[in-house]
Amino acid sequence: MPEMIENDKAPDTETENNEQKDKKKSIWDSLDDSGRAEVESLATEYRDFLTNAKTERAVSDIILQKISQGGFVDLKGKSSVKRGGWLAHHGKLLGLFVPGHDDPVNGFNLIVAHGDSPRLDLKPKCVYEDAGLGLLKSNLYGGLKKFQWLARPLAIWGFCAFKDGRHADVRFGEEPGDPVLTITDILPHLDRKVQREKKLTDAFPAERLNVLANSEPLAGSKEKARVKAALLKILEGRWGIKEDDLISSELEIVPAGPAREVGFDGSMIGGYAQDDRLNVFCSVKALLASKKPRRPLLVIIYDREEIGSYGSTGAESNFIMRLAAAALGASGKEPSWANVQVALAATRALSADVEAAVDPTFKEVHDDLNSGLMGHGPCVVRYTGGAGKYGASEARAEYMALIRRIFDEASVAWQSTLLGKQEEGGGGTVAHLMAYHGVSVVDCGPCLLSMHSPFEVSSKADVWMNLKAHKAFLASA
Ligand code: MN
Ligand code: MN
Repeated sequence: MPEMIENDKAPDTETENNEQKDKKKSIWDSLDDSGRAEVESLATEYRDFLTNAKTERAVSDIILQKISQGGFVDLKGKSSVKRGGWLAHHGKLLGLFVPGHDDPVNGFNLIVAHGDSPRLDLKPKCVYEDAGLGLLKSNLYGGLKKFQWLARPLAIWGFCAFKDGRHADVRFGEEPGDPVLTITDILPHLDRKVQREKKLTDAFPAERLNVLANSEPLAGSKEKARVKAALLKILEGRWGIKEDDLISSELEIVPAGPAREVGFDGSMIGGYAQDDRLNVFCSVKALLASKKPRRPLLVIIYDREEIGSYGSTGAESNFIMRLAAAALGASGKEPSWANVQVALAATRALSADVEAAVDPTFKEVHDDLNSGLMGHGPCVVRYTGGAGKYGASEARAEYMALIRRIFDEASVAWQSTLLGKQEEGGGGTVAHLMAYHGVSVVDCGPCLLSMHSPFEVSSKADVWMNLKAHKAFLASA
């Protein structure tokens, strides 16, 4: 159903006034005791998710487990589902479906988020020895600030596929008693030429992000590189991984340790990969809470967003069409190409991704009027992209009006923001790839401090309000 019909409704002046009045009001001010208890218990659950889901595969596995327990079934070949279903691809991309009262050909309510985050991958050939130390060569994944990854505890998570079809799951550096890995930095006494006198972009070359892996030589070995030999023995002993197997591995170097509460008041959450696992967490939780919605629901957790959405598990792939077809089929509808196209063109989506919060120490990059404040609810971002709206799939005015109405009617505290000042940089999401299919889409998500760093900071109140926003959006008729 086109949104035009719903927008015929006369504007609710009281809602409009509230919207203006609440613009700069902190969510904390509106919480009663039971609201605060909800915020805290949700924050605990969310921190646990961040601690246990440090790769896109782990995200996918944890969600699959959770929704299976919730009565969801594999959509493949189903002509009906009761509670809901999923479509998984390559262990990293996940689509979820909940049938609604309305005909799915008339469109879905869709939330898309992404489960991948900036990190360091190991190169296919990565093991070497130098200066009596065993090292692993890494490869950047996504837009990270390289210096933030030096001289801090790191863990390794991942997956190795063997030629015979077996695989090994790797996870090291997370358990309280585990040793960790690290990437070394040069001492300030000697950094003048290699770092201090260089531009930031040149001072930290990617090829210097080598992971310190071991130091004890292999006793009794006749090899020249005895520390490397010891490292290979460890890999084989722990996970059965031989040097050549690293070529068919996906091993990721991520910050070690659990997500934490931040601030004397514990009002914030600090942890790795809140971009975009905050929205993964909220969208799946909101979907699981949706029973018998009016419109049928979809949630997609994409992979590879941080590197441009390319690849079979990214949003550039045709997965959304396959998911829509599977959802149509599971609703007893003909999953024809025409029905898929019609359904997607009538679909409304939130591209649920995190935003930049105003950092008081770097205020000059923001346009005051259009910037997001911590603790003030999810940011609705009409367009992303670079200067001149380049690369943006701007949400049209009628769709912005619909989103305003959905959130205001559900008493969701939210903010209208843009990423930053026009010529400071820019960024994108998967919104334009949804829009390609005719989907009405707008970016929406809580704002973070230190985005893309190993320790991103969110507001507990925003996490809670974001869940409320997702529930309101999914429930909208
Ligand atoms: Mn993101
Ligand atoms: Mn990002």
